[in-house]
Amino acid sequence: MPDNEVISPQLRDFLPQGAVIEGLLRTLQEGTWVHAYLITGAEGVGKRTLAREMARYLLCTGENRPCGVCEACQQVLNDSHPDMIRVRPGYRVASDLETDRGKHDIIVDTIRELISRVSEHAYEGQVRISIIEQSDRLNQAAQNALLKTLEEPPDNVIFLLLTDTPSALLPTIVSRCRHIALHPWDDAKVEQVVKAYGYSGMKTVQAVHVAAGSIGKALRMAGDDSYWEKRSQIMEQFMNLPDRSSIYGVANKWKDAKDTADELLDILEDMVRIMLLCHNGQGSMDLMSDFPEPWKRMVKEGDNTGIVHLLMGIQTARAKRMSQVTWTAVLERLLLDVMEEKAKWSV
Ligand SMILES: [Zn+2]
Repeated sequence: MPDNEVISPQLRDFLPQGAVIEGLLRTLQEGTWVHAYLITGAEGVGKRTLAREMARYLLCTGENRPCGVCEACQQVLNDSHPDMIRVRPGYRVASDLETDRGKHDIIVDTIRELISRVSEHAYEGQVRISIIEQSDRLNQAAQNALLKTLEEPPDNVIFLLLTDTPSALLPTIVSRCRHIALHPWDDAKVEQVVKAYGYSGMKTVQAVHVAAGSIGKALRMAGDDSYWEKRSQIMEQFMNLPDRSSIYGVANKWKDAKDTADELLDILEDMVRIMLLCHNGQGSMDLMSDFPEPWKRMVKEGDNTGIVHLLMGIQTARAKRMSQVTWTAVLERLLLDVMEEKAKWSV
């Protein structure tokens, strides 16, 4: 197991993200933090980790904050600190609240309850922290309730709004928050973190490349056996399709996979992304060691039209899946696109 330092990156590990983090650290140290932050960035880039580390820094009772050993630090890490409240879609702040309607959104009752709880005196720390994950899922009424509080915030309360889609928030909410934009990490950093978690080998390297700067995605992929199992099936059946006559058989095998179609298309796209990286020289050909020969040839000898063709085929399949076209027909079309490209590079 990796040590705790790595599992709980400290705020300074975010410093490569640039001046915005330097500024944040300074205000936390000086106690000049503001009452609302909007933390944005793609999935897996570290929004929740950053929010939790901010909470740990502010609630820690040790000498060198965050000390990592005091009770408060531990409570933040296992989500049980009474002065830190996390809200996310479908989450009930209080179990007696009827919030079933909120299964897919963060509703106004949840926000009202949150506001009433953070407005009480802090239990242990000097400050109460409320983290709203996927804040783009706040519905209209919830956003309005939150806005009122952001306009006249209670003392010593910090709201951390997390989202990958800030445009879904009212501009008036956004303008009341200090914006911390997290950017994709470079591959070397992603690899360093994933390896620190004990992952290694070609799958790990492939995960790092496919994750496109998302540490969360790379970690999820590296540790997800079912992803690699499905990937090898897709490699075998889609990417190694012998000829046109076998399309029907393969489509038939996957015809019941409509519910997991996104997963299938995502994995296929991950593969094509690896091809693109190898083609552009951003990844070594080792990344394609488990690809059938024709694809290696295409990547080495072809221009990028084949790769674009595959990407467009996947995009078309995504769009058609939502339409009235049957899933089997979508699959057959996609397999034909793959087949045509592969045929060009088969000897
Ligand atoms: Zn501590």
